[in-house]
Amino acid sequence: MTAYDDLTAHIAEYHDLLCVLNTLKWDMRTMMPAGGAGERGKQLATLSKLAKSIFVSDETARLLDAAEAEIAGADADSYHVRALRQTRDAYEIQRRIPADLVGRIAALGAQSEAVWAKAKDENDFASFKPYLKQMLALNIELAEAIGYADHPFDALIRQFEPGMTAARLGQIFAELKAGILPLVERIVAVDAPLPLNLWEAEYDLAAQKRLCQEMATLIGFDFERGRLDTAPHPFEISFTRDDVRITTRYDANYLPMSLFATLHEAGHGLYEQNIAPELTRTALTADFLGQYAVGGASFGAHEFSSRLWENQIGRSREFWRLHFSRLRDYFSEQMAAADAELFYRAVNRVRPSLIRVEADEVTYNLHIMLRTEIEMGLLEGAIAVDDLPEIWNAKMQEYLGLTPPDDRRGVLQDVHWSFGGFGSFPTYTIGNIIAAQALAAAHAQMPDLAAKLAEGDYQTLLTWLRENIYRHGRAYSTDELLTRVTSEGLNTAPLLDYLERKYSDLYGLN
Ligand code: ZN
Repeated sequence: MTAYDDLTAHIAEYHDLLCVLNTLKWDMRTMMPAGGAGERGKQLATLSKLAKSIFVSDETARLLDAAEAEIAGADADSYHVRALRQTRDAYEIQRRIPADLVGRIAALGAQSEAVWAKAKDENDFASFKPYLKQMLALNIELAEAIGYADHPFDALIRQFEPGMTAARLGQIFAELKAGILPLVERIVAVDAPLPLNLWEAEYDLAAQKRLCQEMATLIGFDFERGRLDTAPHPFEISFTRDDVRITTRYDANYLPMSLFATLHEAGHGLYEQNIAPELTRTALTADFLGQYAVGGASFGAHEFSSRLWENQIGRSREFWRLHFSRLRDYFSEQMAAADAELFYRAVNRVRPSLIRVEADEVTYNLHIMLRTEIEMGLLEGAIAVDDLPEIWNAKMQEYLGLTPPDDRRGVLQDVHWSFGGFGSFPTYTIGNIIAAQALAAAHAQMPDLAAKLAEGDYQTLLTWLRENIYRHGRAYSTDELLTRVTSEGLNTAPLLDYLERKYSDLYGLN
């Protein structure tokens, strides 16, 4: 055995623990009876502690040193070198984060999330405020421990999107605002209700479930290596590429809920199922900072796949021209007066709204910018927790032209800050940007791709994504991946171009 093999075997065992953690988390969010919550929390904490102690051990340092010495001078682009570099970077950061800080964030998070849920129900920001203040203080402590050059936000976003910074996001947001704000204004000026409201009818849940299975299969999700289940907050999680779990939720009236959540999570699932088999149980399918077995290059890169399949494919006119008849096979009565074009319009209607998770493709990014700008302000001390509701409402007015009638539909709507997830919001917008860049590159490289998609051939696109992106797991950063396929890093132009083209056409703008 070489030193590199020794390290790989050590990481493989750590990776097994991460997959077991994922299994417990999947069960907790899908199957576990409510009574199991208390003990499950302890099981997760014990296992996390065990996993972390293996990763930050002196044994890891010894194996890393030996493997680095052995591999010195090897091709810098090889998976081996990349796996080593990522293990080393994460090891150094993890050693800098005091173990008790992680424990304090987790303990406060469990309490704070419960307080937040009640505060949201009762529209009572004041009761959540002290917890948010403590959570903010702990996140500032975490940022200091991780280290940063310019802005504490840089340290926190590094956990989700390595290479991204507050300064770079500022530039990206400025570009997006310049394109999206006027587009929303033009759409709002002409938007009118559709002639038929499809979401008053009732859609049988068992039929919805069969339709969702069919749609996931259609885009290439492999049910021999995956499952679709139900969860109140849909998610995807994997226990290696050979067992990928996706979830959705059902609303008897609002069919798009289950349908697009399924396409979204199946898009995440396609990433995991198409990672090269040799990356299983290696550093290139482990998020060492988040202690999470996941194969995508970053959170943003993972979100690219879900948003590409959900929105750019699943909400396209071509898709519904072809598959509306399947929908009508399931729901002939509900869809009797509708056609493919009406359905396409109904699932793409743009309207500024108060709630992020209900937002359309165009306004969604504005919700993300608002949250990210507030997080940055909180971390640098420019915004006080006491002033959050007013600042939130002012920004809502500025970006979306709406003022929330209460904090429940304003500053209290998202769970993220209660458990300390500072730095994660921008990954949703980064995913949208990458999705547009990747799809534009695929079309440029395969001139017949549009014709193939219009015929319902999704394999060609899936194969391209596998060869160019999915199979590499975490080997490349977002910018590196994009540079390999488009010869440039993250760029907002293709997303703005996509939104402009799709919605000018849909709304007859000129
Ligand atoms: Zn997602």
